[in-house]
Amino acid sequence: MATRFENGIVVTLGQNNRVIWNGSVVTDGENIASVGDAAELKKQYPDAEAVDCAGKIVLPGFICAHHHFYSTMARGMSIPGQPASNFVEILERLWWKVDKAIEGEDIKLSAQIPLIECIRNGTTTIIDHHASPSMRDGSLDLIEAVVREAGLRASLCYEVSDRNAKGGGIAENERFIKKIGKGDGQIAAMMGLHASFTVSDETVETCVGIAKDAGVGCHIHVAEDAADREDSLAKYGVPTVERLHKLGVTGEKSIFVHCVHIDESEMDTIAATKTIVVHNPESNMNNAVGVTQLLKLLGKGILVGLGTDGMASDMLSQMRCAYLLHRLDNHDPRVAFMEAPQLLLGNNVDIVERQFGIRVGELAEGLPADMAILDYYPPTPLDENNFLGHLIFGLTDANVNMTVCRGKILMKNKQIISMDEERIAARSRELAPQMWKRLQAID
Ligand SMILES: [Zn+2]
Repeated sequence: MATRFENGIVVTLGQNNRVIWNGSVVTDGENIASVGDAAELKKQYPDAEAVDCAGKIVLPGFICAHHHFYSTMARGMSIPGQPASNFVEILERLWWKVDKAIEGEDIKLSAQIPLIECIRNGTTTIIDHHASPSMRDGSLDLIEAVVREAGLRASLCYEVSDRNAKGGGIAENERFIKKIGKGDGQIAAMMGLHASFTVSDETVETCVGIAKDAGVGCHIHVAEDAADREDSLAKYGVPTVERLHKLGVTGEKSIFVHCVHIDESEMDTIAATKTIVVHNPESNMNNAVGVTQLLKLLGKGILVGLGTDGMASDMLSQMRCAYLLHRLDNHDPRVAFMEAPQLLLGNNVDIVERQFGIRVGELAEGLPADMAILDYYPPTPLDENNFLGHLIFGLTDANVNMTVCRGKILMKNKQIISMDEERIAARSRELAPQMWKRLQAID
């Protein structure tokens, strides 16, 4: 069944970005059948169902290249003891208790809430990093089921760490990677690892072996805080990236998240191995860990994407945060105007292609029908040449009205169709206090 999303301002993005006023995107099944002038496509596809997009701007769906669905239930929770004064204390006092305290239905609900938020924000593809040491086995299946129910795309992995049990999570990743295989374009699998400072050489080597056999990449936090760098230097005599490179973790499908505390030669290793870096500016600011040298990484030709690290699911605000942060950090109002949107609209698309084997992020014939449709009346002329100005200063504050993924309308007029938001939030409010109680009992 074909559908015409018509009368909006269509921004195709991709290599030959076009802005089409009174445009139309015709979808047929999971893909786009045609993009062009609304009146013309109405003649060509007279029988297609019409969805009026007047007063709206039609963009490709957004991508979050690093998320943690499991962090949801920590929202609003009070943390016992003194406030954490550094990154390692934040992990020890908060996140390593949160992941231990969630189990069963919590895992499902704590994925469903951010999936709803992704739909609300037009984020249609997510690369997630999961942890639930009290219930590792089968946890990725629970998340896969709710991603499919939501109608979104996600790459999933379990974060392997030696901190609770040696090699904890390897079996879950191996099982899930085998189950997913090459994937169906909706679900993909990676080998997850927590971070260099919580995994032994033996654990990393086992993970790399499984990943290489299956042809998937590793997804790992790298030098988020100076503590990760110091740990690697003290234990192995080399900085984090060099240690991971020696163990075979680098490669064009692998994702090194953060890379805040890396030196020039580590950047060169990342560039030479075509390893992906994902930048999470809001999270870095929240944890006060430092500033990723984004412009330097891009200057070396490294593929740097954009993620939220579990803090949010709104990619436009994350993009604007990157824009503001790197202007301030460089004390230079000439930078980041091109680079911040490039991470989200270009580089994240390349990252998804490496993980899922499909090309999203562009509205063109034959490509997946993933769209974010926002309420927006441009107050000034809008065309290909000034789109980024509208993106950063207008669209970031616009409401997503409709979200489409794989040709299905998941939200229309801001009403989520694929999930029962009210019921899911109510059930999460019921279970969260029990999860908080279990967390307080953890030493
Ligand atoms: Zn993370």
